[in-house]
Amino acid sequence: MADKINVNIGKNKGKTPPKKKAGNFVRLSLFWAIIIILVITIGSSLTPVDTLKEIPISDVIHRANSGEIAKIEISGNSVKITPKGEEKPTEKSLKEGGSSIFEQGLDKDAETEVIIKEESDVGGTILNAAMLIVPTLIIIGFFLFMMRQAQGQNNQTMNFGKSKARLYGIDKKKVSFLDIAGNENAKQDLMEIVDFLKNPKKYEALGAKIPSGVLLAGNPGTGKTLMARAVASEAGVPFFSISGSEFAEMFVGVGASRVRDLFSRAKKNAPSIIFIDEIDAVAHKRDTRGGNGREDEQTLNQILVEMDGFDNETGVIVMAATNRVDMLDKALLRPGRFDRHINVTLPERKDRLDILKVHFKNKPVDSDLDLESLAAKTAGTSGADLANIANEAAILTARLNKKTISNAELVEAFEKVAIGPESKSKIMTEKERELTAYHEAGHAIVGHVLPDSDPVHKVTIIPRGRTGGVTWFLPHEDRSYKSVYEFKDAMARAMGGRIAEKLIYGEDGVTTGAGADLQNVSEMARSMITEEGMGSNLRNQVFPIEKDGSLLSGLVKPYSDETALKIDEEVQQLMKEAGRRAEIVLKSNKEYLEKLAKELLAKETLEEKEVKKVLTGTSLPKAVKLH
Ligand code: ADP
Ligand code: ZN
Repeated sequence: MADKINVNIGKNKGKTPPKKKAGNFVRLSLFWAIIIILVITIGSSLTPVDTLKEIPISDVIHRANSGEIAKIEISGNSVKITPKGEEKPTEKSLKEGGSSIFEQGLDKDAETEVIIKEESDVGGTILNAAMLIVPTLIIIGFFLFMMRQAQGQNNQTMNFGKSKARLYGIDKKKVSFLDIAGNENAKQDLMEIVDFLKNPKKYEALGAKIPSGVLLAGNPGTGKTLMARAVASEAGVPFFSISGSEFAEMFVGVGASRVRDLFSRAKKNAPSIIFIDEIDAVAHKRDTRGGNGREDEQTLNQILVEMDGFDNETGVIVMAATNRVDMLDKALLRPGRFDRHINVTLPERKDRLDILKVHFKNKPVDSDLDLESLAAKTAGTSGADLANIANEAAILTARLNKKTISNAELVEAFEKVAIGPESKSKIMTEKERELTAYHEAGHAIVGHVLPDSDPVHKVTIIPRGRTGGVTWFLPHEDRSYKSVYEFKDAMARAMGGRIAEKLIYGEDGVTTGAGADLQNVSEMARSMITEEGMGSNLRNQVFPIEKDGSLLSGLVKPYSDETALKIDEEVQQLMKEAGRRAEIVLKSNKEYLEKLAKELLAKETLEEKEVKKVLTGTSLPKAVKLH
C-alpha cells in the first residue's frame, strides 16, 4: 500500500538493462563453424578443378550482340558458351543472378541462342558433390540453429558486421524544434550545431574547428533522441541512429566492424548526423568493466579512431546520449571527441505545460481541458511520461466512444500512468478492505498533521497495479531542495500505514501491506546519511557508494567498516524516530483514524477537499514538533 510522495513515473527506466549475452554455446558453435569452413576450403582446394578461360560477362554479351556466339547454355551457376563455328563450348561459372545479366544484356535481335536449364548437369564425381553439399548442409543447419538461438536473445545473426543504423530520410520524419518544449538552453546549443552543418564554410573561413561530437546528458525520456532528430531535420541532413547496446552483441570484433560500417555510411552521405543512444553501454569506464569488457573496448576504440579522423571536410557530427555521464570513459570526453556537452533536464512546471500542449495540439479536446493542473501535479516526470499520458487519454476517450478528450479522461490517464490501472476485479475480502482503509487513513492523517509534509491529494482503497490502496501527496510546486524537516515528516508519514495497523490490530496484527513503505523509509534515511550529509553525528559528511557497473563485483565502499556501522546506527535511529512520531500523531488523533477509515470504506476514494473536511480538528502534538 503506497504512500506516494511524489509521482515517480517510470522510476526504473534510468537503469540500463543488463546486457544480454550470448552464452558459451554460441562461442563453441563458432569454433565448430570455423572448423567446418576450414574443411570446406581444404576440401574444395583438393578437388581438381578444370582450368577455364576467364571471360568477363560484359565481353560475352558484347560478342553475342555482335553475332560471334551461337549458343549460351546456363545451368545452375555454370555457363557453356559456344562461339560460332566451334563445337567445343567454353565453360564458365557464374555468380548468383548471372543468368539474368545475360538475358538483360543481350539485344533482342541477337542471334545467340540462350538456354537456361533447370537441372544442373555439372559433371564430377559423387565425391566432389558430397564434398560440397554435406558441409554446406551442415553450415546451413548451423546458421538456422544459431538464428533461432539468436532470436531468443534479441540478436541478429545475419548481417553481423553491418551496422543496424537506420537511415531516416531527409524528408520523411520531419522533426522541428517547435516539437520540443522547454530546455531552452539545450535548444540554443543545438541551433549552433545546425548552423555548423548548414554553413561549414563560415566557420572554416575563421579557422574554427567544427565539433565532431556532442554529448546529450539527461534522464531517460527527456527528449534527447528527439533533439538529435530535430538537428538532422532542421539542417536537412541524413540521420543515422543506433543504440550502444546494439553494438555489443555476439562476437568479438563485430561491434567494431559495425562502427566502421556506420561511420563509412555516414561519411558517404555527408553532411550527416550519427546518433548513438545509450552510449554508456559500450563506453563505460575501463577499470569498471564487466564481463563483456574486451568486446566493448574494441567498439569504443573504433568509435574514437573514427572520430579522431574527422576534419572540417568530413561533415559528420556524432551525437550521443547518456543518462550516466559519470560512468563514461574519460577518453570519450577529450577535446576533439565528445567535447560539447548539452544537459537535458527534467521539465519544470511551465515546461511540462508546454510539453502537454505539444502533445495535445493535434488531439480533439474539450475547451475546458485543464492541462495546467496536470502540469502542476506531475513534478518529476519526463517529457516521455507526459506524451504517454496524452496518448493514454486519447485511447481512453476512444474506448468510451467519445469524440473529445475531457478532464475525466485526463485524470484517469495520469493515474494510470503514475501507478498502474485500477484493478477493480482484484478481489479483496471485507477484512482486507478494512485493513487497507485504516492503513491509508494512517498515511493521510500523519501527512495532514505534520507541518513539513506535502498536502494530501487523494486517498483511495481501490486496488491499483499491485497496491491495495494509495495515498497521494502532491507538492504544489516544484521544489529543488529538501530540508531535514521535510525528510523527517515524509518518513513519519510513510510509517503512518504500519502504525495505524498496529494501533487497530495489535503489535502482531500488522501485515505485509507495509513492506514497500518500510523500504521507502529506509531508502530515504540512508540517502539522508550517505548522500545529503544529514546525519545527527555524521552531519555534513557524505559517504558515496560507487556502483562499479558490473553485476558480479557489486559495490565499492570507500570508507571503513567502523563508519559503515555508524551509518547503520543512524539509519536505524531515523527509522525509529519516524515510527515514534507517526505513533504519537495517530494516538492523539485516534478518533480521526476511525472517522477517515469509515469514510473510505463507504466511498472508496476521497479527493483532497473531502479528506480535509473529515480531518478538520486534528491536532499537532507537541512531542512531534521539530521546530
Ligand atoms: P530520450 O532520448 O531522452 O530518452 P526521447 O527523445 O526518446 O527521450 O523522448 C521520447 C518521447 O517523449 C519523444 O518522442 C516525445 O514524444 C516526448 N518528449 C520528450 N521530451 C519532450 C519535449 N521536451 N517536448 C516534447 N516532447 C517530448
Ligand atoms: Zn502504505
